Amino acid sequence: MTQHSPPFKTLQSHPDITVEAGIPLSTCGTFQVGGPAKILITCGTPEALAKVRALAAELPPPLAFIGAGSNILFADTGWPGTLVRYTTDTFTPPRPLPDGSWRVNAAIQLDALAAWACDQGIKGWEAFSGIPGTVGGAVVGNAGAWGVQMEHMLCAVHGWDAAGQPRDWTADDCAFTYRDSRLKHDGSWVGEITLLPLPGDPQQQQTERARILALRAEKHPDWRTTPCIGSFFKNIQPSSAAERRQAAGWFLEQVGAKTETEGGAAVYEKHANILIKAAPTCTATDVHRLALRLQQRVHEKFNIQLEREIQTLGF
Ligand SMILES: Cc1cc2nc3c(=O)[nH]c(=O)nc-3n(C[C@H](O)[C@H](O)[C@H](O)COP(=O)(O)OP(=O)(O)OC[C@H]3O[C@@H](n4cnc5c(N)ncnc54)[C@H](O)[C@@H]3O)c2cc1C
Repeated sequence: MTQHSPPFKTLQSHPDITVEAGIPLSTCGTFQVGGPAKILITCGTPEALAKVRALAAELPPPLAFIGAGSNILFADTGWPGTLVRYTTDTFTPPRPLPDGSWRVNAAIQLDALAAWACDQGIKGWEAFSGIPGTVGGAVVGNAGAWGVQMEHMLCAVHGWDAAGQPRDWTADDCAFTYRDSRLKHDGSWVGEITLLPLPGDPQQQQTERARILALRAEKHPDWRTTPCIGSFFKNIQPSSAAERRQAAGWFLEQVGAKTETEGGAAVYEKHANILIKAAPTCTATDVHRLALRLQQRVHEKFNIQLEREIQTLGF
């Protein structure tokens, strides 16, 4: 199949869809590593995504789906089939629904939605301030911070199941757990969400948002200058309701992670659970090897198997 064959012609004629060949995945995510995708399809509206979904079976396999790539490590070998990227930097304001809830395009950036919700006085969203990535990526990964997770904020999720059937899922259908959901694993595509209209106070939320953004700037790297994909490993789940989740970063710090490097990959000096691209020569293989070594060290010292929070593509 060439870029001029029928499904591509139909997609390329849509004003909100771009189809490209051989684009490096290093340009599709916040770690800025990874080889080329055979075909990259980018769109940012539910209408455009519906078009892509309808033609998905005709696109060169294997087919993969991403948002802004802020939680994915792309392989140096790239992606041998079609990668659909659902993300936009253009903020489309959520649509009010008669019952007081709001319908949101899942391709918009989570931080932009957080800013909007604070201005509107829709409670809870201030917690997501400064988290990179799309609303869709946040839903499937049940993103969270400051004790608030996406599962607390939704009434419904709208998209397509793996067979391409349009679906409306309730929060229960999504089977959310810590940084996970059923949708992350079953080939579903999220096009929109409906958010709960929890009443808040714009002024209080804006103040809280500013506080959270300042804290993030202090503790987290800015991925634009220090490429990364956030926390690499999941925190340790409690074995009983009486226990608290234990930070993976603490265990990593105990094994000296902060001074570890591999090729151009390193550990962020202020946060042992964040791996960074410390040199332009850094490859995905460097990051992968460093992560394996850290995992092994923690296992040897604490008999704990750290589980990856990030996703990988093409390994
Ligand atoms: C500096 C930094 C700080 C971060 N801080 C946090 C934090 O505090 N809390 C937190 O939870 N995360 C954090 N992250 C991780 C990341 O920002 C979130 O996981 C984010 O929600 C991922 O969204 P994305 O659009 O980039 O998803 P991607 O990385 O593109 O994709 C992640 C997964 O979601 C799937 N996916 C994406 N969009 C859709 C969709 N529309 N439908 C179906 N599946 C989809 C992909 O297939 C993939 O499996 C941080 C990352 C960075 C770089």
